[in-house]
Amino acid sequence: MRIKVYKEFNFSAAHKLVDYNGECANLHGHTYKLGVAVSGSVGENSMVIDFKVLKNIVEERVVSKLDHKYLNDIIHNPTAERVCEWILDELKDYMPESVNLEFIRLWESETSYVEISLK
Ligand SMILES: [Zn+2]
Repeated sequence: MRIKVYKEFNFSAAHKLVDYNGECANLHGHTYKLGVAVSGSVGENSMVIDFKVLKNIVEERVVSKLDHKYLNDIIHNPTAERVCEWILDELKDYMPESVNLEFIRLWESETSYVEISLK
């Protein structure tokens, strides 16, 4: 039986959209919420993955690189979709071999998110 394990993170960042006709072309910021889900079988330690291990990976690979940063310096035209793709690139090779990355969900506001599903 595979069990899904999910954890949420927050970071704040500034961006502006390129070639965009609207107010999002102006410099502004978001407090993003990031959700990362992995799945796997329960191991000898009775866990799929220790939440602390997942937290350390995502904080090191993603949150520490994006929090309080200007996203346009890091990601070309950082729409929620492009930021989510960048996050996938940062995480995909750094998960323990015992788990599969299931999805990455990035909220740009409380009511709006994009998701990359790896299934
Ligand atoms: Zn925005």
